[in-house]
Amino acid sequence: STAALAPQICVVGSGPAGFYTAQHLLKHHRLARVDIYEKLPVPFGLVRFGVAPDHPEVKNVINTFTQTAHSDRCAYYGNVTIGKDVMVKELQRAYHAVVLSYGAEDNRILGIPGENLSGVYSARAFVGWYNGLPENRDLKPDLSSETAVVLGQGNVALDVARVLLSPLDILRKTDITEGSLAAIACSKVKRVWLVGRRGPLQVAFTIKELREMINLPGTRPLLDPADFTGLGDVIKDIPRPRKRLTELMIKSAREKPGEKEAALWASATKEWGLKFQRSPLEVLPATDGKQARGIRMAVTRLEGSGESARAVPTGEVEELECGLILSSIGYRSLPLDSSIPFDPKLGIIPNSLGRVQGAPGLYCSGWVKRGPTGVIITTMNDSFDTAQSVLEDLQTGVLNLSNSKEGFKSVRSILHSRGVHPVTFSDWEKIDAAEVARGKLAGKPREKIVDPQEMLQLISH
Ligand code: FAD
Repeated sequence: STAALAPQICVVGSGPAGFYTAQHLLKHHRLARVDIYEKLPVPFGLVRFGVAPDHPEVKNVINTFTQTAHSDRCAYYGNVTIGKDVMVKELQRAYHAVVLSYGAEDNRILGIPGENLSGVYSARAFVGWYNGLPENRDLKPDLSSETAVVLGQGNVALDVARVLLSPLDILRKTDITEGSLAAIACSKVKRVWLVGRRGPLQVAFTIKELREMINLPGTRPLLDPADFTGLGDVIKDIPRPRKRLTELMIKSAREKPGEKEAALWASATKEWGLKFQRSPLEVLPATDGKQARGIRMAVTRLEGSGESARAVPTGEVEELECGLILSSIGYRSLPLDSSIPFDPKLGIIPNSLGRVQGAPGLYCSGWVKRGPTGVIITTMNDSFDTAQSVLEDLQTGVLNLSNSKEGFKSVRSILHSRGVHPVTFSDWEKIDAAEVARGKLAGKPREKIVDPQEMLQLISH
């Protein structure tokens, strides 16, 4: 029968990787059914909880994801943690193919003394806090000092700096949570240093984010012209995106600003800067032994050039006073359970084209497949590749459809027996509508509900 030939597939995680994998499978297989499991009640992963609140255009991908979820061959089950509520082995019994797309839920640590002093946070937690990620909603970051240091020079580092320095009038109109907006309104932070171990040619942010910083109302850039000496010649032969990015840094650091810019910068009350070739050695404690008061850094020199240049300590050391330190040195995936292959060094599930090594029927996509770098488009492409591998394996018979699989029907009874109540996509649409209605009162696109219990009550779970 047709039903017996319909592939039952599930995806673990409802970020871009989960949704793009589902989209490709549904589009290219007329019969495939795809169920999406998500740990949180609400969908969309880092599109909701990572992307900066002042970048609403980036979140338009949610419209495409919503279309996918509305397919009558797709279902969303939120509030279900795979590895805890349901095991991967159980999913494998219920589905012909299981795709792991659960992202990177931890962060890399600095591994230096003082890292746990108060006033030191991971950028991941800070981002989660201002974006209403339930686990970070009570972070209460200490914003009482004038100088903040962000360790790292990627897009996330710039997001964090921008949110710390943005005029309230800009933030107020975004979907930043009301709790974090209130805290930022009382913030004393006036200066943000973005610290990198290497030089201007190795920064990991893009020109769009840099331009936004340079034009951020009420702030001025602090760029040391000496950092850019001689770079004009070096960049002649490098790829165009990095060339343009470096040119913008050189221009901002070395050229006299235009009249308009000069006036803006002169009246600015806040500032931000890039500090290059500094490697963090220790977070320094205040006299109480608990609070951070600064950071000690090794001055480095570069060995090699371009992307592969290495930072080597020169022996010189520098201290910088600051009461707020945000480490933005990368996210990190974790193994889901011990039965699934995992490469702890690379922090990914070992795979070829999304096929998990040594585990037929198991696939992966997104950050857990490639590592935690790349924008949504990168994640989209690699998710399409993984979906393609699944489709090929269906076609070649590697995935045997004559074993009929029950899909959600059998997972439903497992969840029921464990007292877990999944949140459906139409449940999410109720939460969504409530958030949008609350936001409207405050003149913002939405007011996120940050307490999962409140979300569940709203849909009377
Ligand atoms: P995620 O988006 O993290 O999705 C993983 C999902 O899996 C989450 O919903 C998680 O809750 C769920 N999950 C985890 N564990 C389980 C489990 N055990 N069971 C069930 N579900 C689980 N890209 C851009 O293009 N533009 C931007 O402006 C931009 N800004 C960013 C800002 C930040 C701070 C960060 C960190 C990233 C940003 N990115 C941006 C990159 C983009 O977010 C990623 O490329 C993309 O989200 C990765 O998709 P993913 O699905 O692999 O992971």
